[in-house]
Amino acid sequence: MVPELTHFIAGKAVAGTSGRFGDVFDPNTGRVQSRVPLASKSEVEAVVANAAEAQREWAAFNPQKRARVLMRFVALVNDEMDSLAALLSSEHGKTIPDAKGDIQRGLEVIEFAIGIPHLLKGEYTESAGTGIDVFSMRQPLGVVAGITPFNFPAMIPLWKAGPALACGNAFVLKPSERDPSVPLRLAELFLEAGLPAGVFNVVNGDKEAVDALLHDPRVKAVGFVGSTPIAQYIYETATANGKRAQCFGGAKNHAVVMPDADLDDVADQLIGAGYGSAGQRCMAISVAVPVGEETADKLVAKLTERVHKLNVGRSDEKGVDFGPLVSADAVTRVTDYVQIAIDEGAEVVVDGRTQVIDGAGDGFFTGATLLDRVTKDMRVYKEEIFGPVLQVVRARDYEEALALPTDHEYGNGVAIFTSDGDTARDFASRVEVGMVGINVPIPVPIAYHTFGGWKASGFGDLNQHGPDSIRFYTKTKTVTQRWPSGKKEHATDHFVIPTMD
Ligand code: NAD
Repeated sequence: MVPELTHFIAGKAVAGTSGRFGDVFDPNTGRVQSRVPLASKSEVEAVVANAAEAQREWAAFNPQKRARVLMRFVALVNDEMDSLAALLSSEHGKTIPDAKGDIQRGLEVIEFAIGIPHLLKGEYTESAGTGIDVFSMRQPLGVVAGITPFNFPAMIPLWKAGPALACGNAFVLKPSERDPSVPLRLAELFLEAGLPAGVFNVVNGDKEAVDALLHDPRVKAVGFVGSTPIAQYIYETATANGKRAQCFGGAKNHAVVMPDADLDDVADQLIGAGYGSAGQRCMAISVAVPVGEETADKLVAKLTERVHKLNVGRSDEKGVDFGPLVSADAVTRVTDYVQIAIDEGAEVVVDGRTQVIDGAGDGFFTGATLLDRVTKDMRVYKEEIFGPVLQVVRARDYEEALALPTDHEYGNGVAIFTSDGDTARDFASRVEVGMVGINVPIPVPIAYHTFGGWKASGFGDLNQHGPDSIRFYTKTKTVTQRWPSGKKEHATDHFVIPTMD
């Protein structure tokens, strides 16, 4: 019998009642390791009702008390880092050190949210008019939902939950149905840290559960991360239902390589950024843009040498560079794209489909592919592959290189490698992309800086992390006060609109 996972509702593990399940695989072996319940509309509605109740108690905690719960949570997760990373790796297929990074980057957002007593402070103006003070308060929204992707099952739920909880909201997480076990364990650890039951819930499911959240009037905000078509659907449906929404989508991240860059260093960095986590990162570099033929020839030679040395294997083995993809469908998608690239006329320098991977068995493995002479009209350039495929698009000059990420449909991350500060400055200023790395291949900002993708990589006004996250998860109330004793001699005619003279 395959074990059955649960939901986590009102402080307890709760079995699914819909009768529908999804398979959770072990990507290293291709075997089903558990079944995850897929919630029905009525199950989701019951979670939201419970969360709405629990939120009142949580919002009444003063900000410092809420911060203390988050502090204990950080300690508990750190104590369990090894077993959480192993669990994460067993469902996702990323290596153990990478799984620890996933958890650590999530914890950093909780650490930021521990500053909530400072972050929640509003605006204040003394004597805006005679005897009149104006101030603002940041109040929680109520129940908010997070809908998250498979590729960071710890980090992305915590990106959303950290600021949302710190601001006094209750949180309903609908994690990816492909790797739900770490989110379920995080829910138990929140409870152990002192979070009241019902304030952090995990409801597993698919489109039915998501649609129930999007249509429930008690859910006030939706934070989504995943692929672009779903991000757009969720943004449109959530906002049509009167909710706040911030929805982050897919990517095609370019790295422009100038002739003055240190090409050995660039090749090392691109290998990690292109193939780490089998390319299943929203900030993975998938397009290298060397400027000039000479730079391109040298870079391709250095990349080729390194790609041949990559160690692909089981995610729990030491010394492995990357493990399997998350699913059999993902392997098909990636290998189909390699064929499309060949059919479209790209040069396959290294074909990952032919790589022999020791002990691969029925696991969801594919090797690293390097494509050269990709052009901007090819499907493999326009579409997100989300796998271990790095492509080289050769640019004649800097302007042509700058235009590639600027004109691309996606606008998540981009990097430039150069030793010239003026070029880097010009690039950062003019490129139409939300996150820019200068000699840094994966420029995901630290937890206290707001960030988000542009164009088809992000929908909504407020970004995540940093000050924007606090704005997103609170509503501002502005109070204008005058006390009777403060009326004094300047009391004005009540029929005249008040002006701050
Ligand atoms: P996905 O869009 O398939 O799924 C994301 C979430 O949406 C999951 O919880 C899933 O259950 C739900 N979902 C899927 N189909 C749905 C539907 N039809 N209706 C309602 N909900 C639905 O994404 P994924 O495959 O889990 O993750 C990979 C994608 O996420 C890639 O495109 C990657 O670039 C993107 N991503 C973006 C960022 C970012 O910060 N921009 C970060 C990580 C991942």
